[in-house]
Amino acid sequence: MKRRNFIRNSAIISGIASFPLAASQAGENLKFNKLPKEKMKLEFAPFDLQLKHVFTLATSSRSTTPVMLTSITYGEYTGYGEASMPPYLGESQQSAAKFLKQVNLGQFSSPFLLDDILTYIDHIAPGNAAAKASVDIALHDLIGKIMGQPWHKIWGLTPEKTPVTSFTIGIDSDEVVMQKVKEASPYKILKVKMGRDNDKGMINAIRSISKVPLCVDINQGWTDKHHALDMIYWLKDRGIVFIEQPMPKASIDDLVWLREQSPLPIFADEALQRLVDVPKMQGIYDGINIKLMKCTGMREAHKMANLATSLGMQVMLGCMTETSCAVSAAAQLSSLSEYADLDGNLLISNDPYTGMLIKDGKITLNNQPGIGITVVNKVV
Ligand SMILES: [Mg+2]
Repeated sequence: MKRRNFIRNSAIISGIASFPLAASQAGENLKFNKLPKEKMKLEFAPFDLQLKHVFTLATSSRSTTPVMLTSITYGEYTGYGEASMPPYLGESQQSAAKFLKQVNLGQFSSPFLLDDILTYIDHIAPGNAAAKASVDIALHDLIGKIMGQPWHKIWGLTPEKTPVTSFTIGIDSDEVVMQKVKEASPYKILKVKMGRDNDKGMINAIRSISKVPLCVDINQGWTDKHHALDMIYWLKDRGIVFIEQPMPKASIDDLVWLREQSPLPIFADEALQRLVDVPKMQGIYDGINIKLMKCTGMREAHKMANLATSLGMQVMLGCMTETSCAVSAAAQLSSLSEYADLDGNLLISNDPYTGMLIKDGKITLNNQPGIGITVVNKVV
């Protein structure tokens, strides 16, 4: 990176990093004298999400997703969190348990020491992004509950500005795809997973029954840039609005070429994980897909959305297959995004929580404090 850009990006990152202090101070002022004397207590329990349909991507197929559900109790308050760990990302219930056993929240006097706590969590071990997110989300939920406010209000965001969310259609036979599209009729935009040998067939099948706008996620599945560009022109003619991760993240020269030629915006997903990666996406992609499970949680996701916007990139908020816990946590940020792909809870049949709702295809936030969830089946 050129020195001038490095200095500018560093300044932007450090400026954004200080922002949530205001919320932290507000909490101290509001409730400091009433805060419990007890120490914070972290608990966690493994849980397997049952998928309604077998979910197929360009590189894998599965019918369950392992998660770790967390809670942090502090006096009368309990905050909830979640780590979702699709196997291809390298974390597991075993690795999350190993990580969480090392967490000692008892050394901190208050959850409002969010910055110190999350810096400590991040330095326990490298990687473990989903396990770290499970602590981050529970802490945010806890703080919001103590303050009596949802996080979209603490951040000063406008709930009416939440985007519509896409509903994801996995790779499947034409008949199954058409059935899924019919079931997805309440949604204003669909995300189609592509990158195997039946890409055009899937789009033709969808277009035979629906005119709904589509975006496509290739999950790095195209390896030839000329084929990729031909496909993008073909897709544009069929009402596709953007392309996500068309080629392998390491094919940077091909991706730069493709973006220069492409009539549609191109989003990064697998190419980035955390805040430090955001400036590196400039010039390669038009936008970034932020996921709590990649970036260690709400605090860093909030910084990433602001940084990407300040660098002229578009923002999409995505998720894994998750319960309403992690999806509702991400939804608190969604007013900062142009697109949302927060449908992970809709793909499962055993959600232990309720929270953010989709109404007329649009993310609809409630006014419950914290991340806005209610426990339906207590797991942890
Ligand atoms: Mg993706």
